[in-house]
Amino acid sequence: MSQQNQRTLLAHTKEELEERVVALGGRPFHARIARDLLFAGARSYEEMTSLPTQLRHALTAELPLLSSELRLMTHASDGATKLLLGFPGREEGSDEVETVHIPPHNPKSTKGATLCISTQVGCPVACPFCASGLAGLVRNMKAHEILEQFLRGMDVGPIGRAVVMGIGEPLLNYKEVRAALDVVNKELGLGTRKVTLSTVGFPDRVREIATTSPPFQLAISLHTPFDAERDVLVPAMKGVPIEDVLSAGDFWFKETGREITYEYVLLGEHNDTPDHAHELGQRLRGRRANVNLIPWNPLTPMSSDPEMPNYRRPRTEVVAGFQEDLEEAGIITTVRWSRGLESDAACGQLRLHANS
Ligand code: SF4
Repeated sequence: MSQQNQRTLLAHTKEELEERVVALGGRPFHARIARDLLFAGARSYEEMTSLPTQLRHALTAELPLLSSELRLMTHASDGATKLLLGFPGREEGSDEVETVHIPPHNPKSTKGATLCISTQVGCPVACPFCASGLAGLVRNMKAHEILEQFLRGMDVGPIGRAVVMGIGEPLLNYKEVRAALDVVNKELGLGTRKVTLSTVGFPDRVREIATTSPPFQLAISLHTPFDAERDVLVPAMKGVPIEDVLSAGDFWFKETGREITYEYVLLGEHNDTPDHAHELGQRLRGRRANVNLIPWNPLTPMSSDPEMPNYRRPRTEVVAGFQEDLEEAGIITTVRWSRGLESDAACGQLRLHANS
């Protein structure tokens, strides 16, 4: 078996790791030391000089620290760093995900960066404006692979927040996501207030997680206030009324005290009209919610299929008008122009470029 396909240190439970370390001639507490040093930044056993030399050699031969390969790293002029990580998979080159490290706007801030992580290889939601959904779902990521993205991100710089907004729909792989976030919370010290789950809002799952999970922040990708249009823009939610999604969001707020952020990708001349803004304002009026408007980033052609819609970036004045309309309805609204635009910032686009 090649080392890349062996189970890594991170893939072992604490008990399993102690057993492995003892089988390789170490003492149980050496397992804890190795794991702590990995979290503290060691990326080879040779750096772990508090472990006996013989054990370091044995571990190097038998137990890989990480399973991913850093396939590409791009830096944008605003400081964002995108990592393209390759995990062992069923097919050569098929299991790539991206992780983005976004430093605070103010370079003097000590808050640390925001890390955007992926939870699935490919995405089953299949939004027609998103490169990640083009090929559908390849597989769910394991908890240790989700966790590994944090370690890769920490290699770029300190992390103060995490957004589960990369490739994949976290609520469709929640057991693994939750297991990874528990470690992030307990061993990396990132509080639940600093972690945002981003979902298309499956109502039953939102309600269940609201009552069974720690109170993470929740962002729900809405993209339109009209049911028929949402069936097209968010295909996995076909037939689920927007009102059910919003009422699940209300439930989340009631249970956790955390206000919902509704994400809205603005597609030029599609969902950026005054009618959309007016209807969205009506839907959200009186709810404990705010809106993030994300002007769509069209860097990479989405598809050569002539049947695919030809989306475009919305005009700046249209974005400003949309925001104004929502604010007049009393909804706090922020525009999030993609950062790192010139280095392929849109979701999934880095992967497509690397493969082309
Ligand atoms: S926008 Fe998000 S939910 Fe939609 S296909 Fe892309 S990754 Fe999946």
